[in-house]
Amino acid sequence: MKIAIYPGSFDPVTNGHIDIIERAAALFKHVIVSVSINSGKTPMFTLEERVELLTESLKSYSNVSVDSFKGLTVNYAVEKNAQVIIRGLRAISDFESEFQMALTNKKLQPDIETVFMMSQAQWLFLSSSVVKEVVSLGGSIGDFVPNIVEQALKNKFNSTKRENAFPG
Ligand code: ADP
Repeated sequence: MKIAIYPGSFDPVTNGHIDIIERAAALFKHVIVSVSINSGKTPMFTLEERVELLTESLKSYSNVSVDSFKGLTVNYAVEKNAQVIIRGLRAISDFESEFQMALTNKKLQPDIETVFMMSQAQWLFLSSSVVKEVVSLGGSIGDFVPNIVEQALKNKFNSTKRENAFPG
């Protein structure tokens, strides 16, 4: 029975992520969903907000915990005593970069395996960016994210709109 980490930006968590987590939780003793602090990306939600939205969305899974980390994923996996890195795969667009990352991680830390889980057809199109785009254009995202994430996204867009209406 192994420990797995599921690293990502989760900006914000979507039903596509939750589907992968639920299926991974059925395969592994413990799954640590961990928000990576990636200085190369400017997220919409702060680290604390992303961790909170994940924690709230995943509270019904007893063998899933939420954390965050900085630096190399393989170092973090070793620190957490995990043997597996989980990544989700959608269509072919994810393949090239995921393949490159998995091979690099294998070279850096041969004891750790990357396990890919295919997205269900239902969530194949879904990404955090698509959700942010739909909500910014006033579309409904209730089918794509948990309720609290939908609310958090709406609040974020309303406060951005207010800031733009009253600059300074
Ligand atoms: P990252 O910036 O590390 O890609 P994301 O939060 O975008 O972080 O995604 C984390 C992981 O979840 C990645 O492996 C990504 O491919 C996967 N993922 C994202 N959306 C989906 C989805 N709809 N179905 C399956 N896997 C997904």
